[in-house]
Amino acid sequence: MAAIWNKNEKIAKHMLKNGHASVKDILALSFGVWPPKGLDINPAVTHAQQIIFKSFSRENMSGSKKKHGFWPRFKQILLKPLNIVSDALGTAGMATMKRERVIFINKFMCTFMPRLAARSSLASTLSHEALHSLQGDNYFRAKEVYGEQGAAQIWKSQSDTTAYLIMDDLKDYDGRFNRNFLRKAFHMVSRKVSIRPGLKYLKDGDETQAFFYQALLAGYKKWGKLPQDTDELWQALISFGLKPPADVKSHIDDLPADAPARVFAKRIHAGEAASNLKAIDRSLSDAGRTYLWTKTLPSLYADLIEMFGDRKGRERFGLGTNVKGQIQQQVFGKG
Ligand SMILES: [Zn+2]
Repeated sequence: MAAIWNKNEKIAKHMLKNGHASVKDILALSFGVWPPKGLDINPAVTHAQQIIFKSFSRENMSGSKKKHGFWPRFKQILLKPLNIVSDALGTAGMATMKRERVIFINKFMCTFMPRLAARSSLASTLSHEALHSLQGDNYFRAKEVYGEQGAAQIWKSQSDTTAYLIMDDLKDYDGRFNRNFLRKAFHMVSRKVSIRPGLKYLKDGDETQAFFYQALLAGYKKWGKLPQDTDELWQALISFGLKPPADVKSHIDDLPADAPARVFAKRIHAGEAASNLKAIDRSLSDAGRTYLWTKTLPSLYADLIEMFGDRKGRERFGLGTNVKGQIQQQVFGKG
């Protein structure tokens, strides 16, 4: 296990050194294989689009230019290590979603800092940020490819199938959520995020989907496949340590011992990603929790596998037909 893990970190480092990688390369790194088992990925969706890597520092994030004059320049150089430290405390990486495909990686945070705790997280951070790039391709960059009118049509057709809209829907449903969320669960994380310009709070759907994905990646190593229906997804969520609402619990408890969903009944250590999901769950009212388990999380997951190129996508979860397949084949099917 450790050997595989080290191999992945090595591949990630190599990618970073190259300065770019295709979305497919990063997906393959994330799962250890592509396509992942359990899904039916359309081979025409090649994910050949390239992502550029840049190093994350306060300087290039704020777009500040090289300073002139002895003291300003001296301070800029001298204070840079301090910036790196504070960035390290803040974040490991970020991706631009609306403009070009760029991932900013804070190497210090991803390699040196975690190594102090005998772990490294470069591959995991790349996976998270690459998903943001994919979210951008499936939504924000539509204008670039289809023009204003085409994009407007896509945005309209995706109105209930895009991560941040799915999460907004939950917020509308449960008024308690917004009040509790930042106050209790996310005060640490949201403080960190607030120093990052242009990045929305973690409570936004794009982030929720990204850490949900990271938890699933941790699970995939043990399950050997991804959940294919609601039963399997619920069982997967329980394996992250989430406590299901009563109805969901009795449904899962009543499944036969040899039900396919049982494969997902493992103990998965998904770290911060799982804590974030638990934090959302704890912030909701009882009705909100049922909504989260029966609507929000299945929708976020269905949207995720559609972006990967799963042919059935939302259909697997009784949420209608795949609306992203056509975009993907046209835009990411080349190369
Ligand atoms: Zn993120």
